[in-house]
Amino acid sequence: MQFKDIAGQTVVANRLIQIVDSGRMPHAQLFVGDMERGGLALALAMAQYAECSNRQHYAEADPAHELIGDSCGQCDNCLKYGQLTHSDLHFIFPTSSTDRVKDGSELRSESFMSEFREFMKQYHMCGTYEQWHELAGFSNVKGQIRKADADDIERQLHLTTYQRGYRVFIIWLADRINDAVAVRLLKPIEEPVGNTLFLLLAEQEEKVIGTIRSRTQRILVPPPTSALAPTSEAQERSKRYTSMFVEWMRMLFKLNMAALSEWVNSAADMRRDFQREFLLYAQDSIGACFLAQQTGQPLARDFGDAKFNASFPTMLTERNIAGINEAFDHFIMAVDRNAYSKITLMELSFTLSRLLKKR
Ligand SMILES: [Zn+2]
Repeated sequence: MQFKDIAGQTVVANRLIQIVDSGRMPHAQLFVGDMERGGLALALAMAQYAECSNRQHYAEADPAHELIGDSCGQCDNCLKYGQLTHSDLHFIFPTSSTDRVKDGSELRSESFMSEFREFMKQYHMCGTYEQWHELAGFSNVKGQIRKADADDIERQLHLTTYQRGYRVFIIWLADRINDAVAVRLLKPIEEPVGNTLFLLLAEQEEKVIGTIRSRTQRILVPPPTSALAPTSEAQERSKRYTSMFVEWMRMLFKLNMAALSEWVNSAADMRRDFQREFLLYAQDSIGACFLAQQTGQPLARDFGDAKFNASFPTMLTERNIAGINEAFDHFIMAVDRNAYSKITLMELSFTLSRLLKKR
């Protein structure tokens, strides 16, 4: 799976590319969002990108609408990932009994791997639990991730990797792990052996137990934007987002209430999907600034203001970046839930203002 094959998730894809390129990829990440949005495809594309021996970078790309990089699709690792047969790629997902697999020790993800591959292909990585339940032919009992799956993860972790590189566990629907099994997974997630990568996917974040949530980096998967190529209208929006972003960040330092309130009113007047798009753009811009600051590489985007390009990245440090990302994730979800935009944007502004001053 390459990022280029995922429709409407360019901004998130670019964030994942930056995380891998930074060389500081957290070993456990939690992708949150409805499965139709493409979280599984993003997780797979991220793992493939991390494993690719010939990563591509597109320096000229406009990151709001175009990918800044991708896996090559041709190296040995990419080919195996493309066929979902890489020996260090493991899938864990909910299972239930069928005519073929009865309750007992056979009931585990491994026993349904060929069905799950078929499911991923048939639904282009965007299938729902209900579609999986039907394709696998489960009985009426809802599937869950089982103790035998935790055993399999532990066993795999004690084998040396067949190839150099990452050992990847994709846990599909981590909100269906029962608590007893979740407890077993804490240690491997907290203290992974070697180059292990846990990519968890969940629709309802609050159903993933807190001890797992707190050990993972959260990646919010928003509804896909239009899959069409950027139109001149989209390019105009992109320009507007850039100037809104620069104006907003400057305001957060001075915190002039009258000016901020005017900015919030005008941002809240935008269509809800544009508000979400703007917030994702802002979060992604901050990610790009942080990366440039940390690596000393040139800033991957131009805010059209040399002074801002030079000074803003210095406001981002390891002490505030995680809090800033959390704040964006939280408030983007609030926008999705139709919360009152003006209050949401004002609260986000105060939170960011406090965090930016805490470098
Ligand atoms: Zn490759």
